Amino acid sequence: MNFHLTEEQRMIRDTAAKFTEDVIVPRAEEMERTGEYPYDIMERMAGLGMMGIPFSPEDGGSGGDWVGMHLCIEEISRGDASLGGLLDVTTCVVAQELQVFGTEAQKRKWLVPMAGGTEIGAFGLTEPGAGSDAGATRTTAVPDGDSWVINGTKQFITNIGFRNASLVIVTAVTGGGTGEKAIDTFIVPKGTPGFRLGKKYDKMAWQHSATHECIFEDCRIPGDHFLGKERKGLSQHLAVLQTGRISVAAMSVGLARACFEASLRYARERVQFGRPIYQFQAVSFKIADMAMNIELARNMYLKAAWLKDNGLPHVLEAAYAKLFASEMCERAASDAFQIHGGYGFMNEYPVSRYFKGCKILQIVEGTSEVQRIVISRNL
Ligand SMILES: Cc1cc2nc3c(=O)[nH]c(=O)nc-3n(C[C@H](O)[C@H](O)[C@H](O)COP(=O)(O)OP(=O)(O)OC[C@H]3O[C@@H](n4cnc5c(N)ncnc54)[C@H](O)[C@@H]3O)c2cc1C
Repeated sequence: MNFHLTEEQRMIRDTAAKFTEDVIVPRAEEMERTGEYPYDIMERMAGLGMMGIPFSPEDGGSGGDWVGMHLCIEEISRGDASLGGLLDVTTCVVAQELQVFGTEAQKRKWLVPMAGGTEIGAFGLTEPGAGSDAGATRTTAVPDGDSWVINGTKQFITNIGFRNASLVIVTAVTGGGTGEKAIDTFIVPKGTPGFRLGKKYDKMAWQHSATHECIFEDCRIPGDHFLGKERKGLSQHLAVLQTGRISVAAMSVGLARACFEASLRYARERVQFGRPIYQFQAVSFKIADMAMNIELARNMYLKAAWLKDNGLPHVLEAAYAKLFASEMCERAASDAFQIHGGYGFMNEYPVSRYFKGCKILQIVEGTSEVQRIVISRNL
């Protein structure tokens, strides 16, 4: 076995690490407090080629791989997990869906600018009545001449409120009058008449991630906005969500590292009973567990990404990585809070932000319960 990263993967990781330290870390607290959208940071991430790492130059990318992409997501998430989420949704889910299932014309029109980072993508699967049960979609798409007419509401849609978000890929029930339910996917560009954003959600954290409802009222799109194969929309979407799970694992590792680093720093400085609290095993063992679990979770997401790069099945490995890493991250955030004592509750210390931001990682791209369903079904 070879655990060495390639020169290119190391370069991606180190570039992202430096960018995070220099640009994201100094701004993260303020972005969370004000909810200001990080357009300048996105632009610089695009300039470094972060949104296109796993795609070929022809598709607007840099010809890297999924291991490199996820190393980048880990580093960015160490500074700000919601920016890791931006990469997850744009590159790993939406751009990949266009790359794998899109026609050549669709790729040229939508994938190339997305992989180049000048446009951002969103995907709309979740609805008020269809969360974990994604097949319960009620949004409909009805053929009408050369076009499709979409009606319905998607909720909790990441990225779509950014002014540079170009489109949302939505799942919708088709099947017309046959009585047989089919779900297909459609590319709906922003600005299409009949497509509007609902309220921006008032969230517990990730204030600067542009999450909105998407409302479709007689929204007419041309026939060439149909994505992929007929009646395969849901399975196409679930296929790319496997990569989304690896991404959430990488985001969790990045955020857990931030918890670990803050805890180590604080425990070495904070003196109680005449010595740094790091000298109390009750504290240092928490930090030792964090370090070990971070290493384990990283190995898990890298293995899943490596399997993907090598065209090997990775359903289980992606679910293991997502489940373990996101639950590990919650423990790390909780322990980091505990190690900071009362200061952990104060907004001036970053651990309060980490604590608020960790829980969502157990929800998106399939909840922990859904991961356990996926795992148990595949044993
Ligand atoms: C900040 C944020 C960003 C998001 N971004 C996007 C996005 O960009 N695009 C998108 O489409 N969606 C997005 N989502 C939606 C997200 O994927 C869903 O919230 C998630 O899939 C869970 O669905 P739900 O919230 O409806 O919960 P529900 O499905 O109602 O689940 C509620 C609880 O019941 C449990 N549960 C449900 N079914 C079962 C079962 N069969 N067995 C055991 N337990 C079960 C769940 O695990 C959970 O604990 C986002 C959500 C948030 C909060």
